[in-house]
Amino acid sequence: MALTGMQIYKSLPKTNCKDCGLPTCMAFAMQVAAKQRALTDCPHISEEGKEALSDASAPPIRLVKIGPEGKTFEIGQETVMFRHEERFHRPTGLAIRIPAALSDEDAAAMIERANKSVFPRVGAILRVALCAVEVETADPAARARLAAEKSEIPLILVGGKTEALKAAVEAIADQKPLIYRADASNVEALAEIAAAAKVPLAIHGKNLEELADLTAKAKDKGMEDLVLSFLSDGGQTIRDMTVARRAALKKQFRPLGYPSMIEVQADSPDMEGILGGVFSAKYAGIVIVDGVEPWELLPIMVTVQDVYTNPQVPNTVEAKLYEIGGPGENSPVMFTTNFSLTYFSVAGEVERSKVPTYIVVVETEGLGVLNAYAGDKISAELVVKTIAAQKVAEKVKHRKLIIPGLLPIFRAEIEDTSEWEQVIIGPESAREIPAFLQKWPDL
Ligand code: SF4
Repeated sequence: MALTGMQIYKSLPKTNCKDCGLPTCMAFAMQVAAKQRALTDCPHISEEGKEALSDASAPPIRLVKIGPEGKTFEIGQETVMFRHEERFHRPTGLAIRIPAALSDEDAAAMIERANKSVFPRVGAILRVALCAVEVETADPAARARLAAEKSEIPLILVGGKTEALKAAVEAIADQKPLIYRADASNVEALAEIAAAAKVPLAIHGKNLEELADLTAKAKDKGMEDLVLSFLSDGGQTIRDMTVARRAALKKQFRPLGYPSMIEVQADSPDMEGILGGVFSAKYAGIVIVDGVEPWELLPIMVTVQDVYTNPQVPNTVEAKLYEIGGPGENSPVMFTTNFSLTYFSVAGEVERSKVPTYIVVVETEGLGVLNAYAGDKISAELVVKTIAAQKVAEKVKHRKLIIPGLLPIFRAEIEDTSEWEQVIIGPESAREIPAFLQKWPDL
C-alpha cells in the first residue's frame, strides 16, 4: 500500500538540510509520497529508514544506470504520462548501432563518429548518448574490449546468443554496459549473467503479458535493473509502451515498472528519423538507430530536447549585454528578448555572420518578440531603459541601433527619447541576420 507523506517523514532525519534540493524534510516526504522523488534522493536517510520504506516508496518506474561512474547514462524514474502534468525527467538517449559485420578498424571509426556527434543547440549540448555494439563477431570479448577502449560514451552490448553476450559482458563488466537483449528463450541465463556482473539487462517479450512474466523471472534471479525492450512495430509499439507506462504509474504494476527502449527498424533514413522522434515522445528511454550523419541524428535529438524541456519553467537567458565575436567600438548593436529560443537563434546567426556584435537582451519574462509585444511585456520605453542600464553606449562610438524587424513600431519612439539617433529596422527572421549584418556599417 502506498505510504503517506507523514509515514515517510517519520523515517527521515528531520534536519531540513536542503541537500535533496527541497526546503524541508516534510516537503521531500510529500514528493516521495507523490512518487515525484525517490527516497534515495535524500543522502542522509539511515539504513533502517531505507529498509522500512524502500519497497513501498520505490518510484513506479525504476531508475536504471548504464555505464561506469563519471559517464553514466540514466533512464527511468519518470512520474507522469503527459509532459504538461509535470515534466519528463530523463531525456531519451540516442544509441548508434555498431554492426558486427564491420571490421575492427571500421567499428572503431564508427565509434569515433558517435563520440564526435555533439551539437550545440539553443544553449544546450546535444550528443549521441550510447554505442550499441553488436557482439556476435568471431571474438565477442575482443569486440567488447575494442568498444570499451574507443567509446567515450556508455555501451549497449547487442546480441541474441547467450554465450556471445556472456563473453562480451565478462570482458568489460567494469564498464557497466546494458545487455541487449533477453527473451523467453534465454531470460534466466542472461539474468544470472547480468546479476553476477552487476549490469542492467534489457528484456523483450512477444507481448506485454509475456514481458511482465519475463521481468518477474529475471527479478527472481536477483535482477533489479531491467529495461523493457520493444521492436518498432508502428502504432502497436506506441500502444504497448503507453500501456506499460500507464500500468506502472497508475496501477503500481511492478513487473512493468521499468524504463523502455526501442530498436528502430525503418526502410529509409527519413523514416528512421520520424520513428525515432515519435518513439522518443512515447516513451522510449533509449532509441537505437543505424544513421550516423548529423542530418539523420539531429531531427531525433531536437525532438527529444523539445519534449524534455521543462514546461513549468520559462526558458530564459539572463537579461544582460552579450558580446558575440569580440565586438569593438565600431560594432553593431542590436536587441532581442530573453526567451532562450529567440536569444540563441539570434546569437547563433550573429556568430554565423562573423560580424562581431553587441546584443542587448531585454527582460520579457521568457517571451519571444511578438508574444512579448502582444502581452505588454516589452515597450520602446523598456528597451531604452534596458540599453541605458546595460551601458552599451559606453562601448561604441556610433549611435546606430538595430531593432527586430517585428517591432518597427518602436523606431520613432526610440529615436525621439534616447541618444540612439539612427534606429535601423532589422530582419523579421533570425536566419536573415547574416546577410543583413554583412552590410554593416552601410545599413
Ligand atoms: S536531504 Fe534529507 S535530511 Fe536533508 S532536507 Fe532533504 S530529506 Fe531532509
